[in-house]
Amino acid sequence: MPSITVDGASIPAERGEAMREAMQRAVCRVVAIADLTHDIRRFRLAVESGGPFEFSAGQYARVEFAPGIHREYSMANPPHDSILESHVRRTANGLASSHVFTRLAIGDPVRVEGPLGTSYLRERHPGPILLAAGGSGMAPMFSILESALHLGLTQPIRLYFGVREARDFYGEDQLVTLAARHPNFRYDVVLSAADAAIPRFRMGMLHEAIAADWADLEVAKAYLAGPPMMVEAVSDLLRERGVALRDIHADAYYTEADKARLQPAHGLVAPGLNARSETVRAATAGPGATVITSRLATDEYAHDEFLR
Ligand SMILES: Cc1cc2nc3c(=O)[nH]c(=O)nc-3n(C[C@H](O)[C@H](O)[C@H](O)COP(=O)(O)OP(=O)(O)OC[C@H]3O[C@@H](n4cnc5c(N)ncnc54)[C@H](O)[C@@H]3O)c2cc1C
Repeated sequence: MPSITVDGASIPAERGEAMREAMQRAVCRVVAIADLTHDIRRFRLAVESGGPFEFSAGQYARVEFAPGIHREYSMANPPHDSILESHVRRTANGLASSHVFTRLAIGDPVRVEGPLGTSYLRERHPGPILLAAGGSGMAPMFSILESALHLGLTQPIRLYFGVREARDFYGEDQLVTLAARHPNFRYDVVLSAADAAIPRFRMGMLHEAIAADWADLEVAKAYLAGPPMMVEAVSDLLRERGVALRDIHADAYYTEADKARLQPAHGLVAPGLNARSETVRAATAGPGATVITSRLATDEYAHDEFLR
């Protein structure tokens, strides 16, 4: 059994971890709606039939609001909560996000199908945990974070939350409370497009902040979610800092436009279309682009590399 060294102690490396993958179809009802920022809205769902809806922290589901109006959304709640929570960012002229912002009301029925994705919390990993989120990519990070701390994981857990401006930052109360209760958890909020420095925030791109803090991340596990370009930049940086491909777990939030660009040109199953795929690096455009997806095969990762 290979081992890694953390704080001078030799610890067995990752063995198989349980992942929820049995497909469930739940009929839910909207029980709460709230604006988290000017363009991110949260809704909460109570499962009425087909439940309990079981998933692993970090996974996502196909959420259907009405016939023909469905998209993938990450669960923002930890698996031990019975109420499902999603954070949806408004996309200009977006079918599902417009529905969430203009029509969705308390009491509406919503169908949830899943869980999907393999970017879930590896509970047995003993090394540091690095979480990197952009925008509504914070949703699965809240799930992973709440779950890891609830499980009593004691290794360093470090969150980097990248947003454009201060008004895009959300979840502060939750993060402050968790950091106060758990000395092993710290977070940084990184603004990429702020006009001037603001004391409690860092400035720049997410991957630059991580690069400035960490020279070597060899024994860490990383979970990434958000815009594909951010996921790609952070993933590249982590590889440079020594994180093995099998320790980078990512969901790039591809939109229909991204999928349309990727699929015909590359003949690929874009991440997010396949229940068992996760992106570790994905270029969304351009000749010579490399797309790598990982598929979970029992306990082992098989990395399929598609080159063109
Ligand atoms: C694994 C995964 C998890 C995700 N989790 C979240 C989450 O937790 N929170 C979140 O906010 N988002 C998440 N997303 C993104 C989400 O699924 C939607 O893509 C996003 O909300 C936009 O959906 P929409 O229906 O509002 O916009 P869409 O109607 O899909 O439109 C998006 C853009 O694509 C264009 N477009 C639409 N159809 C086509 C087409 N056929 N060809 C070309 N262009 C087209 C539109 O004009 C628009 O610019 C996730 C995505 C994935 C893959």
